[in-house]
Amino acid sequence: MKLVLKYGGTSISSAKDIQNMAKHIQSLSKQNQLVIVCSAISDTTDDLIEISQSIKNENKKKAKELAKKISNRHLQLAKQSIKDSPIRKKLLETFNQYFSELVALIDGMVLLGEVTPRSMDYLFSFGERLSIQLISAAIIDLGKKSTALTGKEAGIVTDSNFGESKPLMDTTKLRVSKTLDSLFSKRIIPVVGGFAGADQHGHVTTFGRGGSDYSATIIGSCIKADEIWLMSDVEGLMTADPKIVKNAKLLKEVSYIEAIEMAMFGAKQIHPRTFEPLLAKKIPMHIRSSFNVKNEGTLVTSSPSASVKNTVKCVSNVSHNGLIDIRGGSMVGNPGTAGKIFTTLANVGINVMMISQNPSESSITIVVKNADLDRAVNTLELELLGKIIKKLEVTTDMAIIALI
Ligand code: ASP
Ligand code: MG
Repeated sequence: MKLVLKYGGTSISSAKDIQNMAKHIQSLSKQNQLVIVCSAISDTTDDLIEISQSIKNENKKKAKELAKKISNRHLQLAKQSIKDSPIRKKLLETFNQYFSELVALIDGMVLLGEVTPRSMDYLFSFGERLSIQLISAAIIDLGKKSTALTGKEAGIVTDSNFGESKPLMDTTKLRVSKTLDSLFSKRIIPVVGGFAGADQHGHVTTFGRGGSDYSATIIGSCIKADEIWLMSDVEGLMTADPKIVKNAKLLKEVSYIEAIEMAMFGAKQIHPRTFEPLLAKKIPMHIRSSFNVKNEGTLVTSSPSASVKNTVKCVSNVSHNGLIDIRGGSMVGNPGTAGKIFTTLANVGINVMMISQNPSESSITIVVKNADLDRAVNTLELELLGKIIKKLEVTTDMAIIALI
């Protein structure tokens, strides 16, 4: 079986977990062709984001301290996880090269006083550049052949929308399948960095927070994987957020559509685009815990079995929203009213999360994030009050409850 295994940051954050993971990979590799996709080690991406903020605030000292913290974390894990001394030595050398590069990058950004989306993506990609070296070394430490590849090196080509890029799938497919097939034929296990790729000019781009899930499904679709496993610190998708509902249960099987809804609202954060590459190829995905590999977790499939098809799977919620009830008699039977309201909000970059219109058409109710609420109300008042809108009624701090 061709398998893409994606590991989240918390699954690779201690030497013991890294060694267990390598053993699991070693045993799976006997019967399967594997591609490993890794996130950055826990907290690393957060630290890199804080570095960019420190640079913006001209706090070079803080930026350097954070770089040191990242460096110490990785050096310590390398020393604890890798038994073979030549492999460990090589890893430490690679790490030290990367840390010098990171420090040089910080100096450069401070000097220019410039934190652009492009330079940020390059900075943020360091987390995965480091983690893949460590994981690949841990696999080699067990006597297996492995190589570390960044998303760019694996062949993921994206548009130039830094911070929120999308893959150019035709080119990506050609490049990724070529790179990985050649490694498969040499029985080398590729460890690919999630989260990032590069645009057509070779500039590093990222998919946005949590983007490693998306990297895994992009790669899975390129190589026509039989299955994709998202390994993380949760057992799978649950019937509710276990932090809120104590007796929430694990779901054995859900459809893609249900999983997409749960990814948006649920306790397990999954990058919202993750399922896109799977839809056409209908590749099954398993969401599993790396700490409890005996448990099979949740299967996400295009064709759920009949017994689970017609049941409610999950109750989920999104808190901290504002509700705006927009009213006006002249909205009734007036084509384009909704269009005007949404265009007005879109023009100031406000995202509407939920919409309903009552049958008389005299009121449209929308939900936006609490943080956008004041701006949304101001904009609507300024642009449309007294015209198509007669009255706005606002309720703060609403939760959206969804039955999936
Ligand atoms: N390291 C990135 C993040 O923390 C991507 C990922 O973990 O999926 O957002
Ligand atoms: Mg993550």
